[in-house]
Amino acid sequence: MECWKTSSELRKYVFDSLKEMESKPYYHKGQNFLISASIINFQVDHANIKPSDTILEIGGGVGNLTRCLVNRAKFVYVIESDIKFAGFLSDKFSTSSNVEVIQGDAVKVEFPTFTKCVSNLPYQISSPITFKLLEKKFDFAILMFQREFAQRFFAKVGTKDYSRLTVMINLKSECQYLKTVKPSSFYPAPKIDSAIVSMKRKEKITVNMNSDFDNFITLIFSHKKKILRSIITNLLKRKGYGELRNKIVNNLPYLERRIFTLSLVELIDLYKFIRTKIGEDLWSDIFSLNMK
Ligand code: SAM
Repeated sequence: MECWKTSSELRKYVFDSLKEMESKPYYHKGQNFLISASIINFQVDHANIKPSDTILEIGGGVGNLTRCLVNRAKFVYVIESDIKFAGFLSDKFSTSSNVEVIQGDAVKVEFPTFTKCVSNLPYQISSPITFKLLEKKFDFAILMFQREFAQRFFAKVGTKDYSRLTVMINLKSECQYLKTVKPSSFYPAPKIDSAIVSMKRKEKITVNMNSDFDNFITLIFSHKKKILRSIITNLLKRKGYGELRNKIVNNLPYLERRIFTLSLVELIDLYKFIRTKIGEDLWSDIFSLNMK
């Protein structure tokens, strides 16, 4: 079932809503609204929303996407930071018993429990929101990002885009690049292309996931062009464990490799090797993120 029949109907809804609020969109707040019916319909179709789904939408704006989610899902949580937009959304959906508008910064507010996330993200918070989503349990997400940002999810090992983001996304989810979206699909049109990506949470993760692995990846990827030997040596010195250098560095795999050339499998291998070699207590001291 299509949500928006035509783009002119959708465009009219967006413009009328902005007029009603006497509001104009601000670029620095990521306020670019979808005015292409085929793109919204594409997102909603790919989200494959079931009547049992609870949806999280980050950045509700004028409710042009929300409207499509509300008719399909059991419940929809919409987070919107802009007070005017949040008020508008609350009014708009005041007669729908399955919508809750949460006014606040999506980076800071506690996410409710949800099964799917369907969002056209404000681009300036793409990175913290992606990492925050990866901490949560959910089934599936359909997300719009800046195209360049989305491409980092699929970066090949050893390329400049291969980063902590690539590693963590691929550790915890299966992503698919679904579609490039042109600036003309939005009002106002952004300067760059966007991309729709799907993200399916992996049920089983290959490494025991408390935040340790994440910390380890954060630490070593903060100097991703450096060689592993120099990173470990400097880290030990900085944390006051210089005398352990030989114990840890001897037999360490991938010693002469630059960090950004290590695949996910190799990084997990390295993490397990170091953890086993130094034990729990030393591990938390040396690989915790607090800087000594
Ligand atoms: N959902 C609409 C659509 O699909 O066209 C609007 C998407 S627009 C790209 C992003 C929305 O996120 C804007 O309404 C903006 O006010 C809101 N926003 C910006 N920063 C935010 C933040 N930190 N937390 C929650 N919402 C935010």
